[in-house]
Amino acid sequence: MLLTKSEAAARKVLLECGLDEINSLTNANLRRLILSRGAYYEEIDLKGKDGRIVTFEGRSIISISSAITDRGKKRFTAAHELGHFEMHKDLPVNVDTHYELCNWYQSGIHEKEANEFASELLMPFNLFNLQCKNQKFRPELIDQLSNTFLVSKTAAILKFVKSGNHPVFVVCTKDNKVKWWKMSKEMETAEHEFIPNWLRYKVKVTANLPPPVDSVVGQLFKTNQTQERFQEIEKSTWFLTKPEDDPKMFEFCHFVPSYNFALSVIWED
Ligand SMILES: [Zn+2]
Repeated sequence: MLLTKSEAAARKVLLECGLDEINSLTNANLRRLILSRGAYYEEIDLKGKDGRIVTFEGRSIISISSAITDRGKKRFTAAHELGHFEMHKDLPVNVDTHYELCNWYQSGIHEKEANEFASELLMPFNLFNLQCKNQKFRPELIDQLSNTFLVSKTAAILKFVKSGNHPVFVVCTKDNKVKWWKMSKEMETAEHEFIPNWLRYKVKVTANLPPPVDSVVGQLFKTNQTQERFQEIEKSTWFLTKPEDDPKMFEFCHFVPSYNFALSVIWED
């Protein structure tokens, strides 16, 4: 597994702090970890923003919104700001909203790096992989991963598309417009004996246009429902298929109502 620069930076922090065990990064420890790296940590009113880091004359203050009640979100935001501290000390100020965290692949290089850092810090690849070992994708696996690593389901899904061991296709939709999509890449390596054909198919999505009407996410937006749903779909909903294909797949849709944002995970059993 090749680590990106940001993942390697997270691994270095964990190693230097002697942390590499599951659950070793609890809330209190994450705060302590930030302090031990040399940044100040506080939870204050950030007026609608989620996290901020300010660096002045070599000192950094990481502020996390006191309005965040969700533990996974608070942890990810704190880890994200620590990523800016470790990698982007030259930037005087960074202010983040959850939307930028959701907007993983679109928010510019510094945000992408801070997200990758946070993801690896909270869900180190080897531990994550151990947790998914011999398990096919299913919605309950995301619940399990999010509980084990104390992260949001969004964060667990985004880690899974990169480091899980069952091929999935993930599509991000906001305000009924497709923002980005991502296919499990690792499946192309020799680690995986079986590469399903659909991973190589052309996808039927266009950025900034609505998702397919017959997709689960398309239905949810159409009917204004914002709950999680999981159901069998036709493979041709998302892909330009071939006649010899098994027509069935599954789509799990995770909705974040406060941002009118959804992640669809599409997979073959
Ligand atoms: Zn940021």
